[in-house]
Amino acid sequence: MKVFLLSQGTCNGCELEFHACFAPRYGAGFEKAESIEQAEVVVVTGCGTEKASVSARREFKKSWGKPVLVGNCAINGGIFRCRHPRIRGKIKVVGCPPRPEQIIAAIEEATKCPK
Ligand code: SF4
Repeated sequence: MKVFLLSQGTCNGCELEFHACFAPRYGAGFEKAESIEQAEVVVVTGCGTEKASVSARREFKKSWGKPVLVGNCAINGGIFRCRHPRIRGKIKVVGCPPRPEQIIAAIEEATKCPK
């Protein structure tokens, strides 16, 4: 399974936890996709800037993968309290940042449910 990381502008905390999923300690059973078109799951993080979220939404339209919202920023604006439109998804990983175990479980859940 291939997973693509799509950032809408963040503090990088959620990205670091996502990359930690691939460390030997966690041993994620998936790999990173080179491009969003290849991905079965799209991990969406952050909402830091209006410009970044606009380009992230444009990029997401190219994807057929299921979105997994990682971190409070992607879910509800988090500490930035940003109000511009964000990518929506049913699978959400709450935390600031969430732990790698939570992210791995959510990605595995995404493969089982419809988009
Ligand atoms: S949820 Fe927390 S760790 Fe993740 S991008 Fe937002 S502020 Fe950073």
